[in-house]
Amino acid sequence: MRNFTCPACEKPTIAPARKWASSSLNPVHCSECGAQVYASSRQSSLWRILESFLVTLVVIRALIGFSWWLVVIAVLIVVAMEALRLFLVPLVRLRREGDGVA
Ligand SMILES: [Zn+2]
Repeated sequence: MRNFTCPACEKPTIAPARKWASSSLNPVHCSECGAQVYASSRQSSLWRILESFLVTLVVIRALIGFSWWLVVIAVLIVVAMEALRLFLVPLVRLRREGDGVA
């Protein structure tokens, strides 16, 4: 899988797994320019809210009549939503006060 582009230096240095696991508390360090980058947390949260909503619908359906297919569907929803999040949520550069950035 192709690496994601660093938002600071535009070089493809961010491995997909590292982008997926990144957050503002756990940013990825770009190997080219050293910038700390992470997948936008606001947009990640939106995806996760939608993801849990869809899984909740499956759980409610399972209360009516449980089937292993529902478990498969729930897992597919989580996998698909996390994959979409990986590709659609942009990487942003971490800025902290005192970084010298006005
Ligand atoms: Zn960079």
